[in-house]
Amino acid sequence: MLTRRRFLVPAFDPVTDRLTPIEQPETPSPRAFMARALELARLGSRRNEGTPYGCVIVKDNRIAGEGWNRASVRHDATAHAEIEAIQEACRREQRRDLAGYVMYTNGGRPCPMCETAAYWARIDRIFTAVSSPDEITDRGAPKYGGC
Ligand SMILES: [Zn+2]
Repeated sequence: MLTRRRFLVPAFDPVTDRLTPIEQPETPSPRAFMARALELARLGSRRNEGTPYGCVIVKDNRIAGEGWNRASVRHDATAHAEIEAIQEACRREQRRDLAGYVMYTNGGRPCPMCETAAYWARIDRIFTAVSSPDEITDRGAPKYGGC
């Protein structure tokens, strides 16, 4: 299971001018990463920040970026979980190219905007699950335009 951190801590702390660390699963696994994506979806939705979508970007069994749908709270139609997670991973890793990274997100296939963003970020593969981390589907490499 995941070690706990205070939820919804900003990736960038303007007071300390530093990125807050992402706490990692005690036992990294696809199931643990998908469980975190589903947890982010639930918690963000509970806070009325957007519809229930969560996403994590992973490399070498380590979460590099997380996101959840914040379209409502940010008044931003593009603030989908996948976009937020890609942006955070790029910022934390100090790179625009996420080749070698994979995405775990809930729901079916990401929307065309998010899948295209994953394509441009060069993410290797997208894994999805609707409601349980035991139901992971490998969606393969992201495609330009999605679907
Ligand atoms: Zn999307």
